[in-house]
Amino acid sequence: MPESDSALKILIDRDVCMGSGVCLVYAPGTFAQDSEPKAVLVDPITDSVEQIRVAVEACPTGALSISTGEEGV
Ligand code: SF4
Repeated sequence: MPESDSALKILIDRDVCMGSGVCLVYAPGTFAQDSEPKAVLVDPITDSVEQIRVAVEACPTGALSISTGEEGV
């Protein structure tokens, strides 16, 4: 489980997402695709923070971002 799960906020900009599915490959316990098919968060999230970070960085359109509290990362 993520070490700072409670503070981690994952943001998906669905206007930017092009539905490539890359985030699902790296963090299938965090991201899924809806019928559009754009990324959505799964609940509960079961990936590690590291997996989620890799997925965020792998997104080809920069649609994903992580916030770990008051300060943006
Ligand atoms: S990797 Fe990025 S563009 Fe691809 S489905 Fe995930 S959020 Fe959308």
